[in-house]
Amino acid sequence: MSNPGDFAYTVKQQADIVRIIGDYVKLKKSGAQNFSGLCPFHNEKSPSFSVHATKQFYHCFGCGVSGDVFSFVQKIESSSFPEAVRSVATKLGIPLPKQQFSPGEAKEASLRGKLLDLHEAAAVFFEQQLRTPAAAGAREYLTGRGITDEVMKQFRIGYAPDSGFALRDRVKQEFDEATLKQSGLFSWKDEAGGISAIYSKFRNRIIFPISNEQGKVIAFGGRIMDGAADKEKAGPKYLNSPETPIYSKGRVLYNLDKAKEAIRKLDYSIVVEGYLDTISVYTAGMHNVIASSGTAFGEAQVKLLGRFSKNIVVNFDPDTAGAAATERSLAMLVEEDFNIKVITLEQGLDPDLFIRKRGADAYQKEVIQSRKYFHYLIDRAQAQFPSRTADGKVKALNFLLPHIQRVPSRIVRDELASEIAQRLSIDSAVLRQELKSAASSRTQKMKTESTAQQVSPAENILVRVLTSHSAQDEAARSNVHDVLAAEKLHAGWVMEPVFEALLKASTEQLSAPLELPMGDSDRSRLASVLMQSDERDDFTETTIRVALAAMRRPHIERALQQLQPQIDEAGRKDDTLKLTQLSAEKLRLKRALDESMRAGQGR
Ligand SMILES: [Zn+2]
Repeated sequence: MSNPGDFAYTVKQQADIVRIIGDYVKLKKSGAQNFSGLCPFHNEKSPSFSVHATKQFYHCFGCGVSGDVFSFVQKIESSSFPEAVRSVATKLGIPLPKQQFSPGEAKEASLRGKLLDLHEAAAVFFEQQLRTPAAAGAREYLTGRGITDEVMKQFRIGYAPDSGFALRDRVKQEFDEATLKQSGLFSWKDEAGGISAIYSKFRNRIIFPISNEQGKVIAFGGRIMDGAADKEKAGPKYLNSPETPIYSKGRVLYNLDKAKEAIRKLDYSIVVEGYLDTISVYTAGMHNVIASSGTAFGEAQVKLLGRFSKNIVVNFDPDTAGAAATERSLAMLVEEDFNIKVITLEQGLDPDLFIRKRGADAYQKEVIQSRKYFHYLIDRAQAQFPSRTADGKVKALNFLLPHIQRVPSRIVRDELASEIAQRLSIDSAVLRQELKSAASSRTQKMKTESTAQQVSPAENILVRVLTSHSAQDEAARSNVHDVLAAEKLHAGWVMEPVFEALLKASTEQLSAPLELPMGDSDRSRLASVLMQSDERDDFTETTIRVALAAMRRPHIERALQQLQPQIDEAGRKDDTLKLTQLSAEKLRLKRALDESMRAGQGR
């Protein structure tokens, strides 16, 4: 992993894991050295994810993941180790050494850099074009939608002129053709003698730049001009950048760069459909608004959003052509354990139109009064199927069941079942029965994980002694080390492989115990023990004696058990000498057992 002298090591030395993880997970202080929050790697309602500030690692008591700052970034960003190192270095402002890149990676990084520069240049170009006389129609449209000059600047709204070559001519000095072709901004045709000249994809459109989380422009969305002469030729109403090396539609949320702080602070997000909806809601003072850019939420987008808050107010129009996409989005959010509320605006108004007609305050009120998603669904079921008849009840139930079965938490599912039973006046026992099969398959996995062998208090203490950094524990540490090594007291205990690894490790290796070679479940156990350790741990002689005695006890008991048949045998054979020897041994073991019991009581 990281060794002294490595770039990774240097970065790790300077990184504060609490701050880095804090960018992704809402952490609260819980104890002298610990912070905790909701695990980003499994669904949970109460926090079992912990970060240890001094030991600089994380561990989830729920799903067992653990590791250092790099392993966290790797997991959450699905990146490789070198990418994680670079990502952390960038967050800390540590310049990257050139040799960190393999030749392939270097080429890729340089292309991505060029594409970002090209998008920035294009964004500036489109912004300038919006100020030209040719863009009068575009400005008129925007002003008509209540968008002021200031808002145009803030969202960097632009205009793509009705020319295939204006953008190309603007950027061709600075960027080579290969970069232009990879940018998604241009088209070309294959011709006999090679390719035709490349030309702009975005023509005569209002341009909305799409930025990544850091606010760098990575793509564009272009809206057709209402007065476009030839509708057929003009293409779709909205045209978006295709997937490129810097833009993956499924991983980006429109406006997240501007909204993320507000989402974290207010602990909920508002999700709308389009660019103009987002801009209207944002401008109306609700800065925690994002858009999924017209398509259904993908898993990556939902996970991305979940890093900031798992509470969401959805303002899609469920009864439009996009109903299927809406349905999929909501299903995804339910599965990822989001707390969902739904706004349905009167007469199918979209947020932009609603705000212009009724004002910002009225919209804010709608947000506050938004209904829980499941209440909304029950209303829909009741509206569609007359729930007074038996047939209607069955149909309503069939409509609702698939939605409920997606809910990960059994408790929440049961609550919903009672609520639905009450609203549709059905026997709630019947409804619970319907839900049961889905429930049992879900909980099975969690159960097998939680009944995993428990680490005993004695093991817990001794592992912490062995991994302690403090000088005052030095004597205790070498004492524990010697006793365990000589008597092999850890044999047969849950943490045996961990003790083996710790006993074999050098002093230097012990400073990063989680990097010692061992199995994943052992590492997870070690992490869970280390998480409870504290720099102010005070290991008294008594504590350690008690712990060692506790670990010795099963060994003594086993030896006693093995001794008994031998004593019986010697007795049958009248072998007095052997009997005396064995009896003495038995007495010694019994005393040792008593001693270990006493030690155990003395805590
Ligand atoms: Zn977890």
